[in-house]
Order: sequence, then structure tokens, then C-alpha cells
Amino acid sequence: MIAAAGYAQTAPAIPADPQIEANIQALMDKMTLEEKIGQMTELAIDLFIQPGPDGTVRINEDNLDGILKKYKIGSILNAPQKALTPQEWEVIIAKIQEKSMEHIGIPCIYGLDQNHGTTYTRGGILFPQNINIAATFNTGLARRAAEITAYETRAGNCPWTYSPTLDMGRDPRWSRQWENFGEDPLVNAMMGVAQVQGFQGDDPNHVDPNHIASCVKHYMGYSAPFSGKDRTPAYISSQDLREKYFAPYLEAIRGGALSIMVNSASVNGMPVHANAELITKWLKEDLNWDGMIITDWADINNLFQREKVAKDKKEAIAIAINAGIDMTMDPYDPSFCTTLKELVEEGTVPMERINDATARVLRLKYRLGLFDTPNTYAKDYPDFDSKKHREVALNAAEESIVLLKNSGNILPLRKGVKILVSGPNGDSMRSLNGGWSYSWQGNLANEMATEYNTIFEALQNKFGKKNVTYVPGVTYNEAGKYYEENEPDIQAAVAAAANADVIVACVGENSYCETPGNLTDLTLSRNQLDLVKALAATGKPVVLVLNEGRPRLITEIEPLAQAVIDVLLPGNFGGDALANLISGDTNFSGRLPITYPKEINSLITYDYKVSEQVGTMAGAYDYNAQVAWLYPFGHGLSYTTYEYSEPRVDKSKFTPEETITVEVDVTNTGKVAGKETVMLYSSDLVASQVPDNRRLRAFEKIELRPGETKTVKFTLPASDLAFVDYHGNWVLEAGDFNFIVGGKTVAVTCSSTKKYTTPNK
Ligand code: BGC
Repeated sequence: MIAAAGYAQTAPAIPADPQIEANIQALMDKMTLEEKIGQMTELAIDLFIQPGPDGTVRINEDNLDGILKKYKIGSILNAPQKALTPQEWEVIIAKIQEKSMEHIGIPCIYGLDQNHGTTYTRGGILFPQNINIAATFNTGLARRAAEITAYETRAGNCPWTYSPTLDMGRDPRWSRQWENFGEDPLVNAMMGVAQVQGFQGDDPNHVDPNHIASCVKHYMGYSAPFSGKDRTPAYISSQDLREKYFAPYLEAIRGGALSIMVNSASVNGMPVHANAELITKWLKEDLNWDGMIITDWADINNLFQREKVAKDKKEAIAIAINAGIDMTMDPYDPSFCTTLKELVEEGTVPMERINDATARVLRLKYRLGLFDTPNTYAKDYPDFDSKKHREVALNAAEESIVLLKNSGNILPLRKGVKILVSGPNGDSMRSLNGGWSYSWQGNLANEMATEYNTIFEALQNKFGKKNVTYVPGVTYNEAGKYYEENEPDIQAAVAAAANADVIVACVGENSYCETPGNLTDLTLSRNQLDLVKALAATGKPVVLVLNEGRPRLITEIEPLAQAVIDVLLPGNFGGDALANLISGDTNFSGRLPITYPKEINSLITYDYKVSEQVGTMAGAYDYNAQVAWLYPFGHGLSYTTYEYSEPRVDKSKFTPEETITVEVDVTNTGKVAGKETVMLYSSDLVASQVPDNRRLRAFEKIELRPGETKTVKFTLPASDLAFVDYHGNWVLEAGDFNFIVGGKTVAVTCSSTKKYTTPNK
């Protein structure tokens, strides 16, 4: 392996394959500087395509020949505005491979954002978005969904995806909340590892043609913009950065992730693309990781155009490449190549850096088998969009939908009941899928996903066509911005309620993605609030269905609804899944992977600091502080009930080197079968810095028949209870802790303090 000086002597995150390393060395010995820099460059497909005679997309061979010959480009990304069929992809990428071999002698690596299934492969499976996958708390499902996505992506001749997203959704104002696995580091880490391994298979050195390379993004701290707006500065304490924001990336790398994409914005004043400590030290050196690091979209340009840490493109390239970037996603401008060559010749960027970056790009291509198998063909993937793949997507949607409230057991609805479906989300495939669905903003789903059922259609199928009517009351302006609505007709919906036994009010958001999804007010739209109020005023029971990528504030209307269900963004099978759940054919088992906020000035996460919640002091200075939420992290009801025994530990006193076992018996005390997520939390009662209220340490989803009891056993190293101190170092302090499971507590004590001498435990 060609490594920069000063690498730590920890075991490599991915053990090197000697044959691959020899191949890289032999190839690089023959490569010119221009060829090496070409491998470090990724351009967008838009530069290489033109419309075909029949409205299809064709490769522009002149451009492809010209650019590949001149710049020796190593990678191309993206879809031409919308999803293509596997057959269309096959032809386009095969032509790129043919020309790459002709002009460069090295296969191209093509990348797509297959972010919740086959975003850009038409006809493939769109799973629930990651926030839903988190709500399933089922890592097996997460892995299976990624496996299917990999297979169906290969059907379209593409070997690489920019997924999973492990930023964590810790700020509900942020427009990319739903792309992550909720607010908790452990959930993001476990789901992230499951997806990395689902995409890549078990051997990251030899990814077979049914699997693809993952690119974990957006390293790191992206999800905490101070303003709440996408791609704006975050300010994160050194403790939280190491302990929480880094955790999912650390585990993904330990789990074999082959590439990483960098956060577009800045953390603590430093754009991450310019941050050598985070990119080179934390990832490449501390972890001895030989994977590849790519920029996000045009982010070297952003160093001078937006972030103003460089005066021009040349300076920006020097900063980013010297910080440790291996490949630039510079979508439309190959001048990166000539400028970087100048920088090397001038001595501003050392040749070792170019060699390191090139080796990392080539290593990814060898690991993917692209030199031997540059193309894969649709005909070899007979299970594309198969019934068994669809079943996984339906099951994932069912397990991801969260029942937040069910007053008087109004749900399940009995067969034969007359239902009025209302609200702008009641008959829309677009809103069920969210962004990254057939197109970047998800705005084409209503025309491209007609074969699947909206909520209205699925309820008609379940409860009978004549029993279910749809009068929206409020509609989105499909041609406008995602938040624009048409002139409402609330009275029409109110009038229709007269003939209904129950109202299913489907509210939330239309699809959006990234910066266009920025928001000025987290509260649900005024029209939609008014609609629900007017519907509730009819006296008919209201089942409030939330279909949203982030938790919009509904505090004003929540008390008016008898039942509240958050379907989040459940994908193409979300309508069917909801109908199965509402009818009681399937039981709810989703749990909130976020804290559902109650008020705009309490946007907290469940692991808030204990001093954020204090009672009123006695005396003249009657200070207090309150945290608030509408529904807590982990909340989710079902049609059955569970009883937990007192948790048992194998030792009540432990040393930092020991493992601890926590056991609990869980019984299904209701009348129907169910799936229950058993969650183990810990609290550090006193620490040398303000402790978190509590932290999720483990979870497991189990299935229980009525009356059945299962024992769940969690085994965790004591080091799981360590935290990162003020100076950025891991420490496990002597003292008392509580484990909490099923609302019951068991006390344990750590007998001595351990200060860790390595950056990671
Ligand atoms: C997004 C990334 C995405 C990339 C390539 C960027 O705008 O931030 O998540 O992978 O585009 O499409």
C-alpha cells in the first residue's frame, strides 16, 4: 500500500490484498502525472449526453472522446434529470467503459445516488427512506434493502452508490433530516454498518457483481447547521464531534466502507473540505483506512466561491488536495486537471499526495473488479423488481410506520367503515417517496410511480371502493416550490365528512431535497392546520396521518385527533403498508428514531444534557429550565401490550476492562402477535462534565405471539459507557450508572477510572 508518512500502526481498517496492491503499483509505475490526476477527477454525465431522436438519452461520442482523451477522467456521476431503465443505463455506461479503455486503459467508476433503493434506475424498488428504516429498528431489514438496491443497481451497469447517509438527523429544521437514520449515534452506526455490508457484501476487497461499493456521506457534522439551513456552518463541541458525530463513520469504516464523501459545509469555522485533521488524521491515519475520499458536488469551487477560504480555484484545489481529498466531484469543469498539474509542478501539492490519491482510486476500482468485469448486463439480473424484492419493501414500510396515538383504541378500523380521506398527501406517490425518487427533488413520482398505490387507493383496495372517498381540501402546487399550496377548498372536505364514519386526514410535506428544501417555519402549513381543525369540528373522529421528511410542528391540532400515525416517507409501498396497519391485518411496530418536537424553542434530542431540565429552585431566584417534546424518541404504540421484567445484570460492580450483561424478560400481554423493539439505555449519574440525560446502548427487535415471553440478553463492553471529555479524549469514570430497559432501572458501579490513550476506543 502506498501510504503517506506518519500512519498510525493500528491494524488496517480493511486488510490489504497483496495482489491488488501489486496491481496498483505496477499500473502506477506506468502512469503519467496527467493520467494520475485524471483518475482523481469526476465529472457529471450532463457533459457527455444529448437527447436521442425519440426523446431518449444518447451518449455524445464527440464530447466523450474529446474529454477522456484530453483529461483522462476516472469517474462520472449522476442521472440525466431522471431515472433511466437498466437497459438504457447498460448502454450508456458500457459506452463510457469502451471509451475509457480506449483512451486511458483504466475502467471508469460510475456513481449514482441510489439513496432509498434505485433512485435513478427506473422500474426498480424504492424502499422507505432512511428515517423510516431507522424507525423499523430492524438492522436485518436495513441490510436486505441495501442488498437488493445493490443488485438492482448492477442491473443498470453501475458499481457505486453515494449512500448510506450517516450525518444523523438531530435538527428537525434541516431539509435532509429524512436521509439519515434519526438522531441517535448508535442507530446511525448500526444501520450504517448493515447498509454498507448489504451494498458491498462480506469481502470489501472483492466486491462481486451482485454488490456495489458504498460511499458513506457527508463526513461530518453536516446535520447541525446553526441556522437550520442546508450547507451552512455548524458549531459542534469537540466532545460531541468525536463522541457522537464521528461514531457512525467510525463504525462504517470498521464495517468495511470503501469510500467516503465529505460534508459540503464548515464545522467550527473550517470547511471540512479544507480540514486535514478530520480528513487525513482522523480517517486515513488514525484508522489506517485505505479507502477513497471524494468531495461533495462542486465543493472545491465552494472553498473560494462560498466559504472564502481561498482566493481562487487554484488555491482551493491546493487546500483540498493537501487536506486529503482523493477525488473531486467538479461536475462541469475539467480545468481541475490542468490546475492541479501546475500545482504539483510548482511544488505546492507534493507528488506523494497525488500517488496516495491515485492509489486509493485504483484500489476502489480493483476491489470492485472493474478491470476484469467493467460491465454488468440487465439480462443477468432476473430478480430486478421481483415479487420477493417488493415484499421486502412492503415489510420495511409496515415496520417503519409509527403509531403515535390511539385514543379509545379507535384503530384498527373495522371493515365496512366509511372513510373520508382528506389532505394534500392523501393521493400522492410523490409525497410518499420524498426526494431522491426518480429525480433529485422527487417531483416526477406522480407520473413515474403510477403502478403503486397512494394512501387513498390502498384504502379503497382494503375497505372497498364505495366506502372510501377522497376530498383533499388542500392541495400542493405541483408546478411550484415544494411548500406552495393552491387555493384551499376546506368546505368541500367538511361537506364530504357528513357521509363518513371516520376521517383519515393526510397532511405533511411535498417532496424536496437538499437546499431547495430549506424552510422558514417548522410549523405545519396554515392551510393544513385549518383543514384538520375544520374536519375535527364536524365531530367525526379524525385519524391524523403525517407524511413528512422532518417532524413539522402539529401541537395546535394534535389534541383534535383520536389517532396519530407518522408514516414519515415510506416509499412506493407506503400506501399499502398503511392500509394493512389501519385495518389491523398487520400490527404496528415502528418507533420514533427522533424526538417529535412540541415547540420551536425546544428542539432537543433525547440525549440532552441533564441541566437542560431542572425544577424550580427554592428562594428568590426561582430559576428553572424545561425540555419539551410532543412524543419522545423511541415512542411507538401497537395493537398489543408488552410487559417487561426487572432488568438483571451479571455484575453490579465492574472494571473498565470487563463486559456487562443486561437481561430482561419481555411478555406479549395482549391478544395479537407483535414485534417489539427492546431498547437498553444508560445514564451516567455523576461525571466530571455535565452528563447526557441518557444514551441508547443497544436494541433488538423481537417477535412475540400473544402470551409469549422472550428473554433478551445484551452484552456490552464497559467501554460503551465512556464519554469524550473536554479535551477531546475518551474516558470511563468510576462511579454510578443506571441501565434502563422497558422503563425499569438497574444500578451498576464502575470501580475505577480509565483514560484512553488512543483517539478511538
Ligand atoms: C449531495 C450529495 C450527493 C451529490 C451527488 C450533492 O448535492 O449533497 O448527497 O451524493 O450531490 O449527487
